[in-house]
Amino acid sequence: MIIDFRSDTVTRPTPAMLEAMIKAKVGDDVFGEDPTVNELEQMAAALFGKEAALFCPSGTMTNQIAIKCHTQPGDEVICDADAHIYQYEGGGIAANSGASVKLLPGDRGRINALQVEEAIQPDDVHRPRTSLVCVENTSNRGGGSCYNFDELIKIKAVCDHNGLPFHIDGARLFNALVAKNETPRQYGDLFDSLSICLSKSLGCPVGSLLLGDTHFIKKAKRVRKLFGGGMRQAGYMAAAGIYALENNIARLSEDHLHAKMIGDALKTQNYVETVMPVETNIVIFETKGVSAKNLVVLLKEHSILAYAIAPTKVRLVLHLDITKEMATRMIEIINFLKFY
Ligand SMILES: *Cc1c(COP(=O)(O)O)cnc(C)c1O
Repeated sequence: MIIDFRSDTVTRPTPAMLEAMIKAKVGDDVFGEDPTVNELEQMAAALFGKEAALFCPSGTMTNQIAIKCHTQPGDEVICDADAHIYQYEGGGIAANSGASVKLLPGDRGRINALQVEEAIQPDDVHRPRTSLVCVENTSNRGGGSCYNFDELIKIKAVCDHNGLPFHIDGARLFNALVAKNETPRQYGDLFDSLSICLSKSLGCPVGSLLLGDTHFIKKAKRVRKLFGGGMRQAGYMAAAGIYALENNIARLSEDHLHAKMIGDALKTQNYVETVMPVETNIVIFETKGVSAKNLVVLLKEHSILAYAIAPTKVRLVLHLDITKEMATRMIEIINFLKFY
């Protein structure tokens, strides 16, 4: 049995999700005629208290569409230096929107209001025009860290004061909501645009949602087409999204519990330097006396798959396809490995 901790994107649809997909009523979504896509979009918009939503193939696309809608070429986007939009979207901010970035050194992927305020460019012809502030919750490279909601309110106040739109890369927002006991509504009220992944911890095979007001989503729909993301009978995928929103949110706390258990087990090992605080479903730890690459190879010999994200950093991600037994097995292996 292989236990795959590389990412929460590796989940496969459960029989119940597959059944919902097979039964979906579909139509041509580029014509706006797929009833299941329309249902998912309305359901998500209502959940977050936004006017509209747009179903897209990936979280990279929802982020990149949002950035293109909010900026003009030559503008500057403010985000954390570890942000997915900068680190892992193929240079899309520059390639798709012709925008540059102002990278801030945050705390485990989280920026604060003072940093944002100081990063906004003055109204000066020499300078790029700041036109967007982006945050990521939970933060991927921050080890699944969650924002303190009060800080987000403060950042929003800075955005409002400077007339800047506020976007959230919420690939794993539901993990944050469950961990911090927050509501989608709180986030819908605070952000101009939200990107939510269905294909991560929620267990869908494909899909992300972009949320915003009607005017923004109308613009986003044009950009989705421009990016080649207009899908036809996408209702089969949207049905998985509806199923996930109805069934797979509450169980995220199990992933968080398993992540904490694994993090605690790692802390006591002689081959572990430090474990980043475990807040949700991600465990990132620094190795000692062994490279991350070699540790990953060793884990693989025990049928455990993990990711080396830096020379001495390993990432483990908990998800729907990792049972309590698998998490327990992982802890046994962690305790078994010894380096002298
Ligand atoms: C996974 C992820 C995305 C989107 O990834 P896709 O693979 O394009 O769906 C965006 N932001 C963060 C923080 C992510 O972890």
